[in-house]
Amino acid sequence: MKDRKFFGNKSSDEIIKTIQEFHGWAAPGVIIGAIMVDYALENLPAEAEKDAIVETTHCLPDSIQLFTPCTFGNGWMKVADWDRFALTFYDKKTLNGFRVWLDPEKLKHFTVVNNWYMRLVPKKSIPLEVLNEAILSAGRDMLSGKKVTVTGLYGKKEKNNISICSGCGEPYSASTGALCQQCSGHGYFKYSSAE
Ligand SMILES: [Zn+2]
Repeated sequence: MKDRKFFGNKSSDEIIKTIQEFHGWAAPGVIIGAIMVDYALENLPAEAEKDAIVETTHCLPDSIQLFTPCTFGNGWMKVADWDRFALTFYDKKTLNGFRVWLDPEKLKHFTVVNNWYMRLVPKKSIPLEVLNEAILSAGRDMLSGKKVTVTGLYGKKEKNNISICSGCGEPYSASTGALCQQCSGHGYFKYSSAE
């Protein structure tokens, strides 16, 4: 298993190195994600223009951004904050796709990974190398995949007209009302000092 290739030609060592450089460390969730992305892509026509939908904000979006052209910023990856370890790639012309998820029944056969993922033991009790080795050796055997037709979360998000906020003077999307989100009380910060 360890010597299997991902995305046609990448070794597991290369996968881990790429993840380390981007994500900051060899996060197990991003490695599982790479296996999931590899699995999903293999079940779509190579020539299809593919978009992605990911069902958690944790780890998986990075796997998609690292190993495919789909990013949050270019809009080819949509992120649903559902905390489900699953993702779908689909052909944006036909909306036919393939969904891959971490299958709890299959995961039970891989004790180390199961203990970690289901939080059955303290995370720190499993050395990272042991866990990542177990993930790579389980590979797709802990996943399930199925063909789907995408019915939502696809397509371009329309860009709205831009207005200048009468509160702060910054440009914002006019669709949210007369004031920007911050000035209408939905903001996330206050300035530390009135400079
Ligand atoms: Zn404002």
